Amino acid sequence: MNRRLFISELKKEQLDGSDIVGTYNIISSVAMRCALKGPVKPRHCAHYFSIEYLMGRGFYNNLMELGVLHEASSILAEKGIDINAFEEVEDAALGNGGLGRLAACFLDSAAALGLPLYGYGIRYKYGLFKQDFENGFQKELPDDWQRFGDPWSIRKDDESMTISFADMVVTAVPYDMPVFGKRINILRLYQAEDSAEAEKISEYLYPADDTEEGKILRLRQEYFFTAAACRDIVQNFVRLHGTNFKNLGKYNTIQLNDTHPVLAIAELIRIMTAEYAVSFKAALDAVKGTFAYTNHTILPEALECWDMGMIERILPEIAQIISKIDGAARIEREKAGYSAAEIEETAVIRGDKAHMANLAVYASKSVNGVAKLHTEIIERDVFPTEYKYHPEKFSNKTNGVTQRRWLMLCNGELSSLIDKTIGREWRNDFTGIFALKESIGDIAEKFIAVKGRKKKQLFDYIRATEGIDIPDDMILYAQVKRLHEYKRQLMTAFAILEIYNKLKRGELKDFQPSVFLFGAKSAPSYRRAKAIIKFINCIAEKVNADEQTNGLLKVVFVRNYNVSYAEKIVAAADVSLQVSTAGFEASGTGNMKFMMNGAVTCGTLDGANIEIVDYAGEGNNYIFGATAEEIKSLSSGGYSPRKIYDEDEELHAVVDTLIDGTFDDCGTGDFADLYAGLLKGERLDYYFVLYDLNSYVETLLTINEDYKNRVEFAKKQLSNTANSAYFSSDRTIKEYAREIWKI
Ligand SMILES: *Cc1c(COP(=O)(O)O)cnc(C)c1O
Repeated sequence: MNRRLFISELKKEQLDGSDIVGTYNIISSVAMRCALKGPVKPRHCAHYFSIEYLMGRGFYNNLMELGVLHEASSILAEKGIDINAFEEVEDAALGNGGLGRLAACFLDSAAALGLPLYGYGIRYKYGLFKQDFENGFQKELPDDWQRFGDPWSIRKDDESMTISFADMVVTAVPYDMPVFGKRINILRLYQAEDSAEAEKISEYLYPADDTEEGKILRLRQEYFFTAAACRDIVQNFVRLHGTNFKNLGKYNTIQLNDTHPVLAIAELIRIMTAEYAVSFKAALDAVKGTFAYTNHTILPEALECWDMGMIERILPEIAQIISKIDGAARIEREKAGYSAAEIEETAVIRGDKAHMANLAVYASKSVNGVAKLHTEIIERDVFPTEYKYHPEKFSNKTNGVTQRRWLMLCNGELSSLIDKTIGREWRNDFTGIFALKESIGDIAEKFIAVKGRKKKQLFDYIRATEGIDIPDDMILYAQVKRLHEYKRQLMTAFAILEIYNKLKRGELKDFQPSVFLFGAKSAPSYRRAKAIIKFINCIAEKVNADEQTNGLLKVVFVRNYNVSYAEKIVAAADVSLQVSTAGFEASGTGNMKFMMNGAVTCGTLDGANIEIVDYAGEGNNYIFGATAEEIKSLSSGGYSPRKIYDEDEELHAVVDTLIDGTFDDCGTGDFADLYAGLLKGERLDYYFVLYDLNSYVETLLTINEDYKNRVEFAKKQLSNTANSAYFSSDRTIKEYAREIWKI
C-alpha cells in the first residue's frame, strides 16, 4: 500500500482523542481506502469454507500488514492519543477456539505468500459469548463485537444471493473483509436478512442445539453460507471458463474446514444439475475433483450426523441428492470390491442418518489430518476402509500459526532481539529463524530480560483487569485453551493442590515462586467443563489467600480468554501446559504460539506436541504421561482409577477435595459429579486424569528445579523459538497450495 498516501490522508482527518470509537473508525477506513486497489479474483484459486473465523482484533494487525502501524502511531501521538487506546475495541470472535483460529491464520499466510485463497463463512451478529465469573461460576454475556462499528468490512449489496429453504427464503448479504499481505485476499462473510426468522440464521455462533428447533437452526446455518458460497464460486467459474464443469476442479478447490460445511457437496451438485442441466453423474464427478476435506477431531460425539427426515423437511432437494450420492457410492464401491460390511461402514447414509464425514471422505479428492499422529489415527481408526482402498487420497498437513500475529505483533521485544542477533530476513522468510540457534548462548541474558518485560506487562494487565496481584518474578505456567475434559485442566488443578499441600507440609525446599494461569471458556451447556472452572476458581481463592504460601504459589483464572488475551499470555509464559490425554488432541495450535515465543512445553505425546519435541529436542521440553498406544490398550480393559485412588494417599486427598467440603459448589452438586466421573458409574476416569497425575506433578517440579539455573533454562526456551519455523502456517499453506490446491 502507498504509505505516503496513508500518511497524508490521515493527517487531513480530524482526530479527537476523547472519541476513541470515532478515531478508530476514521483510521481504519483511511487504511481501507488507501489499500483497496487490490487484484481481482484470479482464474485459478482455492476457497476455504469454515463455520468459524477467530480473527481477533483487526486494527493493529492490519496496520502492521499494511506497513503503516508505526506511521499511525506517530500521527496519533502528535495529537496526544495513545495507539493502545484501541485495545478496548472488541475482538472479532466469530469462532470458538483452535479450528476458527486456524482458519484465520491460514488466510493471513495465504495473503502474505501471495496465494489466492478466499474464505467463506457467516457474519454472526454475536460471536462467542463474553465470559464473566459470578461467584466463581462462568457467566455468559452476549458479545456485541460490532459495537465499535465494523470498518474493516465492506457490505456488497449488489452481490446478495437468495437462499431457499422449504419453508422460507432468505437473502444472503456478503460482507467482504480484506486480508492484507503480498496480495489482498477476501474473507466473505454472509449475513442473513429479510425477516426476523431469517436474521436468526446469522445471529449466534452455535445456537444451543439441545432442542429440535436449535438443531434445525444449525442446519440452516450450515446450508445458508455454503449455498451462497457455492453459487458465488459457480458464477465466477461460468464467467471465466463457461459451463464446461469438467474443469471446475482444475481451477477451483474448496477446502472444507471440518464437516460443518459438507452440505456444500450436495448443493454444488444441485446447482449444476438444476440450473445448468448437467447430468447427476457428471456433476458428481466435477464435485469429486473440487472438494478437499480436513478432519479436526476423532471424538466420536463430534462426528456430525444429520437426521435424514430433518433434512427432507428443511431442504428436500438436498436430501434427494444425498440419497443419490449414497446410492452411487454403494454401487461404485461394490464394483471396486468393498465387502458388504465395508460398504455399510463407509456409507453416506447409515440407518436414517446422513453421516457428514463419510460424505466428505467419499466426495473429496483429498482427506487430511492436522498433525502426524492425528493423520495416523484417522487412517487407522477413523476411516480405515477408505484408507485401505484409496490411500492416495490421504495426507498429513500439520497445522501452523502465523508468526506475524503470534510473534512479530505480540512480542515486539523478542522480535527486535532476533533482528539484532540475525538480521531482519526472518521477517520475510520464517525459515531464517533457524539461524538464531548459533547465538542462543550469547543472547540468553537478553532473552531473560525480554521475558521479564513481557511478564510484567501481562501481570500489570491482570492486576488492572482481574484485580489479582502477581509478583513479577514468578515462573509463569500457562494453560489457556477451550475448556474440555480431554484437555485435562482438572489434572492441572489436582497437580496444583498436590504442590500446595507439599508446600504446606514444608516438603519443597527452595521452590521457585510460581503462578499457574488458566484461560478458557466452556460451552454453555457442558456441565463438567463448567464445574472445572468453578473448582479452579475455588482453588485460586484458597491458595491466593494463604499467607503461608502465597509468596510462592498463585493461581489465576483470567476472564474472557480470547485472541487478544492470548497474544499477551503466549509472549509472557515460561511454561506451556499441553497435557491432553494422548490421542485426543488432533494438533493443538496454542502449543505452537508458546513455542515461538520461547516457552518450554510441559506436555504429553499428543497432537503436534510430538513434532514440537522432534524439532526443538526432548531435552528442551518436558514430556510425561501415557502415550496414545498405552491409552488405547488401557481403554480396552483393565484400567482401574479406583486402585490408584486407594493406593496413593496424596492423590486420594486432592481428589477428595471435590467431596469433603474443602470447596463449596453452592449446592449444585457439580463437584460430586466431577468426582463421579472419575470414580463412580460408567466410563470411569475416561480421560486418564488419575493415571497421569503423579508423573505430571513430578514433571512440574523438575521444571521448577531446572528454572533455578536461569541461563540454562533460557537456552532451552530459546531453542524452542529457534526451531519453530516448521510451525509457521506459511509452511502449512505452502503444502496445501502445492499438494492439494495446485495453485
Ligand atoms: C490458539 C487459540 C486457541 C487454540 O488453542 P489450543 O491450545 O490449540 O486448543 C484457542 N483459543 C484462542 C483464543 C487461541 O488464540
